[in-house]
Amino acid sequence: MTSPWEYAPALESRELADLKPNYRMFVGGEFVDGGGQPIKTINPATEEILAEVASADTGDVDRAVAAARRAYDEVWSKLPGKERAKYLFRIARLIQERSRELAVLETLDNGKPIKEARDVDVPTAAAHFFHHAGWADKLDYAGFGPNPKSLGVAAQVIPWNFPLLMLAWKIAPALACGNTVVLKPAETTPLSALVFADICAQAGLPAGVVNIVSGAGDVGAALVGHPGADKVAFTGSTEVGKQIQRTVAGSGKKLTLELGGKAANIVFDDAPLDQTVEGIVNGIFFNQGQVCCAGSRLLVQESVAEELLEKLRARVSTLRVGDPLDKNTDVGAINSAEQLTKITELADGAAAEGAERWSSPCELPERGFFFAPTVFSEVHQSMRIAREEIFGPVLSVLTFRTPDEAIAKANNTPYGLSAGVWSEKGSRILWAAQKLRAGVVWANTFNRFDPTAPFGGYRESGFGREGGRAGLEAYLDV
Ligand code: NAP
Ligand code: MG
Repeated sequence: MTSPWEYAPALESRELADLKPNYRMFVGGEFVDGGGQPIKTINPATEEILAEVASADTGDVDRAVAAARRAYDEVWSKLPGKERAKYLFRIARLIQERSRELAVLETLDNGKPIKEARDVDVPTAAAHFFHHAGWADKLDYAGFGPNPKSLGVAAQVIPWNFPLLMLAWKIAPALACGNTVVLKPAETTPLSALVFADICAQAGLPAGVVNIVSGAGDVGAALVGHPGADKVAFTGSTEVGKQIQRTVAGSGKKLTLELGGKAANIVFDDAPLDQTVEGIVNGIFFNQGQVCCAGSRLLVQESVAEELLEKLRARVSTLRVGDPLDKNTDVGAINSAEQLTKITELADGAAAEGAERWSSPCELPERGFFFAPTVFSEVHQSMRIAREEIFGPVLSVLTFRTPDEAIAKANNTPYGLSAGVWSEKGSRILWAAQKLRAGVVWANTFNRFDPTAPFGGYRESGFGREGGRAGLEAYLDV
């Protein structure tokens, strides 16, 4: 179907990212070369090399942990909360001041649409620093008793799907509670973390309070296994999370894990269908579905399934897939060739297992890693697509007849990170929310994030909370 209305390109300027040919690590307040083989980070929408980035070796990890220890012992642990707060406020304001630069940089390195980097990732990252700045001098009133103590040096490892936002989720509470940090960004998206290091320097943060070591998985392994770390925080795959839990076991280090998910998004027959369709789209196509809490399993009451599917396909057909720097783009690039292969394999497998495949008839760019938004119907619980995290723009649709059946199917997963409920009845929503085994349950919305709301999972989705009062516990000796 050709539309009589065509969009003209509305490109954000890539100059705003102020790309440098080389990025160095940040250790002890200085930008330094790493001992490892430098990595080349690419733009997944074009496959061009963006920059060369230093990579740490084990000696660099040692130096970063030692710098964090010194900063903890000599400066940060001695500062009163209201002084720490000033730095956090300053960082939050600098993120706002440099928000266009950060948004374009994030879009180039990750492949996400500029409107998401600009309207979600960067402002929410700033909000996390503002929120935790407010806590820094009020920890006595957080419900953990008077004068709760910090832990020391936090070793933090983050994934590629929300590079700057995951950094903010990790660093803001750590600093607010009086800890110092060594953080490793993902290999495919290191740039915003290294610009954040520049923001720390600009804010006059004392040397060694924040250290960023870039590199691949081995750098992460060296960091989380380092005897000098008092706390380990990880967001990423369940597989690596389990490995880290084994490494940390018996060491006395405090551990929080934010892992994968296979969230159910449940639509009851009394839900307002047009609004629900918007929520389903946001649940699975936001950030190309590369979201741990993505609503990848749609459970629809049988009596409205056909009508809903029709509306959904019509809506998904209008999503604009393409250049992430275009302000009209809804769905950008998949982060890496590897992730694209994984998505393609799982989707092909679902078709082979008998699920009915429908993909948006959009045109995909010739270069770069793109995947058309896809909806599988006739999905059964035994299929891989209904059980495994796909981490891509692919929705599985299952049906149910009774509310009890919906809950049973929703909870039939080893994960337990998030869920959604769509219904007009408040009583039904509250009933469902109590029965769902998920850390976050959204009602008549999906994928909403706020620094005041704790986020985290059950079972194979990990443990510990980030955000809100509950999130402070992960960084305090309580
Ligand atoms: P991952 O392999 O678990 O990577 C996450 C982070 O851990 C990256 O910084 C990674 O470094 C690092 N890492 C890798 N191996 C490590 C090890 N042995 N010890 C310590 N750190 C290590 O996950 P991914 O490659 O980003 O994504 C794979 C899958 O993870 C996705 O398909 C999705 O299912 C899940 N995921 C979940 C979330 C979430 O928020 N819960 C987020 C992203 C991904 P490198 O980048 O250098 O490998
Ligand atoms: Mg990249």
